[in-house]
Order: sequence, then structure tokens, then C-alpha cells
Amino acid sequence: MSANAEPSIFTRIVAREIPADVVFENERIIAFRDIAPKAPVHLLVVPKTEAYRNAGELAAGDPALLAEVITTAQRLADEHSDGEFRLVFNTGPSAGQTVFHVHAHLLGGHLPEGTLGQ
Ligand code: AMP
Repeated sequence: MSANAEPSIFTRIVAREIPADVVFENERIIAFRDIAPKAPVHLLVVPKTEAYRNAGELAAGDPALLAEVITTAQRLADEHSDGEFRLVFNTGPSAGQTVFHVHAHLLGGHLPEGTLGQ
């Protein structure tokens, strides 16, 4: 977080300042149900650090943490669905990003074909 910035909404969830339906947590990652689900299973897999705004920054700054986001997503898809999933990282407002603290949308539970981008 930069000097005068407010903590992101996800940092406030990590700090338990606002409630969330947390499904996984370790030292570096938290995962919880999206408040406005777009699929039968819609989880957010979030590095606890808000040092990275998006997946590109995370890949450049801490590739091992990005890999951990993806392996965590697989484990959660195994646990909450049938192990098959779509992973979405929005980058920038014109791509629909609203929270500028890197996070992966884990979508699963039988998505119709041809729905990418809808
Ligand atoms: P993005 O549009 O990629 O930045 O995704 C942000 C996501 O965070 C959206 O899908 C929101 O529904 C979700 N979201 C925002 N606030 C909360 C919250 N308090 N608990 C759970 N999910 C949230």
C-alpha cells in the first residue's frame, strides 16, 4: 500500500474489519466467496499483500506467489466443484477491474461454452 492510500477492501477482509465467507487462508493467500457471484462457484483468490494491483505486476514482482494463487485455485476447485474451472484476472477499468488489489476470480460449477467475455 502506498503512503497515504486507504487499505483496499480485500486488505480489510484480511484484517477482519469487514465480513466475508472465507473458504481458505494461509500466510500469503486468502480466498472467499464473491459477494455478487457470476457462476455457481465464484471464489476470489487473493494474495494478502496489496503491493500488486494486477496479475502482470504480481508475475513480475513475485512469480512464486502467482503460482501459489493458481495452485490454490486448483485445490479450491477440487474442493468446491468438480476440479474444472475458469480463472479470470481483470486488469484495468476497461476490463472490468474495480478492486485494484490483485485477485483471481475462480469460476466453476458447469459454465456454458462460449461465455467468455459475457
Ligand atoms: P474486479 O471487478 O475484478 O476488480 O473484482 C472485484 C470483485 O470483488 C467483484 O466481483 C465483487 O463482486 C467482489 N467484491 C467486492 N466487495 C466484496 C466483498 N466485500 N466480499 C466479497 N466480494 C466482494
